[in-house]
Amino acid sequence: MTTPGWTPEDYGAVTVLRAANGGGYPYGNSLLVRGTAATLLVDPSLALVGGGVPGADAVLVSHAHEDHLVGVAGLAAPVHVHEADAAAVRSSEVLLAGYGLPANAAAAFGETLAADFHVGSRPDAVGVPDGHVFDLGDRTATVVHLPGHTAGHSGLLVEPDGFFFVADIDLTSFGPFYGDVGSSLEGFERSIATCAGIEARWYGTYHQKGVVEGVAEFRGRLDAYRDVLVRRDAALVEFLSEPRTLADVVDHRFVYRPHVDEPYVPTVEARTAEQHLARLVHRGAVAETEPGRFRAVAG
Ligand SMILES: [Zn+2]
Repeated sequence: MTTPGWTPEDYGAVTVLRAANGGGYPYGNSLLVRGTAATLLVDPSLALVGGGVPGADAVLVSHAHEDHLVGVAGLAAPVHVHEADAAAVRSSEVLLAGYGLPANAAAAFGETLAADFHVGSRPDAVGVPDGHVFDLGDRTATVVHLPGHTAGHSGLLVEPDGFFFVADIDLTSFGPFYGDVGSSLEGFERSIATCAGIEARWYGTYHQKGVVEGVAEFRGRLDAYRDVLVRRDAALVEFLSEPRTLADVVDHRFVYRPHVDEPYVPTVEARTAEQHLARLVHRGAVAETEPGRFRAVAG
């Protein structure tokens, strides 16, 4: 895997280490927050392997996914992560299990994690709760728990700069991802609402959308991002105009386009479809007409 390096972009005391490809997966846009007393590095990305890892007194990982914790097993600084994702940073086996892949796909992905993402176990990773404050001297960085993408997924609010890092609530047209074992569609929706309620000057995403300026622009993009969930519900209801099984839904695909041929696709499609089906059944929009077969309720 090639490593494109990064260039710095400053937003107050927050420096975005913008990946040369803009931050599209497998790369991402790490942050460096410099205070008078300490410097915090957030989400070391693959771009840092080619572009250099800046020195830091502490590291925060927004959540336990391979593209956010590149090389953290070998960093000298202490590593922090929300307590709900701490076990997966402490052990790469726990991390791998969290993707919920079938055995053959898991073995291959485990090799990818180690070889391409430089992921290893970091047994001394520190679990932190919602609201944990990093005191950097003249500024603070506060952990904001935003679960759904993973159970421990968290943002970071840097004050007084007014920079809110929303990590993988990434505002892309792909939409929210909640396809892991610890993911939650309902949690993701609540976290989107939490983000909309936080007024900041800048909103930093980890991937290709980069930094959005101003709360009005951010809320508009957040609405469009949340609408992807509404469209997935609607597309599923339409597909269930005749009775279908979960396997039918997985084959039809509601998340990935047909040409995407990766070993994790069936798992993610199934996890996503199960969560939409459950809530559509709960709302009365879909009924389980016989065990394992679902159909939209007319009207
Ligand atoms: Zn992620």
